[in-house]
Amino acid sequence: MIGFSAKRKWIYPQAITGAWQRMRWLTFAALHLILFATPWITINGNPALRIDLPARRLYAFGAIFTAADTLFMLLLLLFLAFSLFFFTSLFGRLWCGFACPQTVFLDSWIRPLEKLIEGDWVVRRKRDQGPWTLDKTWRKAVKWSLFAGIAFVLAMSFVAYFAGARELWSGEAGRTSYTLVGIFGTGIFFDLTWFREQFCNYLCPYARFQSALTDGDTLLVQYDITRGEPRGGASAKEVGRCIECNKCVFVCPQGIDIRQGFQLECIACARCIDACDMVMEKVGHKGLVSFGSENQLKGKQGVRRLRPRTVAYGGLLTGIAAAAVTLMTARAPFDAAVQRAPGSLFTMDADGYVRNTYLLRVTNKQAGDGAVAFHVEVDGLPEGSAQVMVPDLSLKTTESQTVPLIIRVPASSDMPRTIPISVEVKSPTNEVRLTATFKTGGQLVVE
Ligand code: SF4
Ligand code: SF4
Repeated sequence: MIGFSAKRKWIYPQAITGAWQRMRWLTFAALHLILFATPWITINGNPALRIDLPARRLYAFGAIFTAADTLFMLLLLLFLAFSLFFFTSLFGRLWCGFACPQTVFLDSWIRPLEKLIEGDWVVRRKRDQGPWTLDKTWRKAVKWSLFAGIAFVLAMSFVAYFAGARELWSGEAGRTSYTLVGIFGTGIFFDLTWFREQFCNYLCPYARFQSALTDGDTLLVQYDITRGEPRGGASAKEVGRCIECNKCVFVCPQGIDIRQGFQLECIACARCIDACDMVMEKVGHKGLVSFGSENQLKGKQGVRRLRPRTVAYGGLLTGIAAAAVTLMTARAPFDAAVQRAPGSLFTMDADGYVRNTYLLRVTNKQAGDGAVAFHVEVDGLPEGSAQVMVPDLSLKTTESQTVPLIIRVPASSDMPRTIPISVEVKSPTNEVRLTATFKTGGQLVVE
């Protein structure tokens, strides 16, 4: 590979079926359903899940988050990060083998199509090593065209989470969205067609730091070295030792030999487990390669789920989830902000009142078809004589409006120069209290 000293060794993993692969295909089907269907689903007229970057808005299952909800975004990111730590410490790289987009798309689309068009691994390898013939050319052309189509569909599905599926597929989305489809599509095509396992081995940051998250009780794909060695020999089949068929190596998409112990390249896809079980089942000794912990294999104990690190990660996850739920419960489904009108501190009106002018901005984040009416009150002004003028506010979902808020108070030299006030914006179900100050003019007032 360019930039690396060693020449790339192309991997031709043999096709394999088995109990773990059936479980993976079910997972892949569910993940595809989520990926393709979610951008088309609407809840109360809004997308079920969409990141609207130009409007700085996130639609998430009926709730609408804006830039004012940055704390929720922070909690969400922390929750995702600690979930990764928690599940990695328990189940190792199950994410890589069962849910990583690269693995899901390679095993769902690329490898089955490659097998259909070019044959299984031996035929494919032989043809690739041979000269360019008409047979090889048309197969490559068909394969790469299909891969390009898949990359396009996947890029569209991904960008739909930002631009909206209906807008994107009907051609109504902006130029930026289609440019992103082009960039992502090219990247996906390059990755699925050529880069493949090199992404896991050289680029994926998760593969690099996951060893810091695992210990002797983490679930890994491993070879039972005590039972399997020494390999081969006349009695291997009878006692269930490794019979050196190399099937576990042939099926590995990362090109490694699990019998050499845990390796960073292993993505826990369980193909070697199915391959070995398929071979060993015939001689009545399954489980030579299996999911298990290092300690379990050493005969120390069963898998310990409750360990200091899992308890710590679990506790942090629970704390973050509790904080998010508490904040969600207290959160008003609208944003409000008040600021003094630019260039205006206070004005002395001809009728003897002091006037302060503010700009009040309200954004309705409540999903639904109807408009929500907002009512504004001001607290902290002298009783009885203060006047508050603000237009009626009625906003549809995601609508924002900025209106002038004018407060007038009879001028008096007794008043302090600044009075702290609170502006209360009320919807039929919630209220938001904003703080501001009223400038009276103080000593400038001559009575
Ligand atoms: S060693 Fe087994 S589990 Fe690991 S990547 Fe290879 S086939 Fe998958
Ligand atoms: S598939 Fe099983 S029996 Fe065959 S070489 Fe691998 S570990 Fe040994």
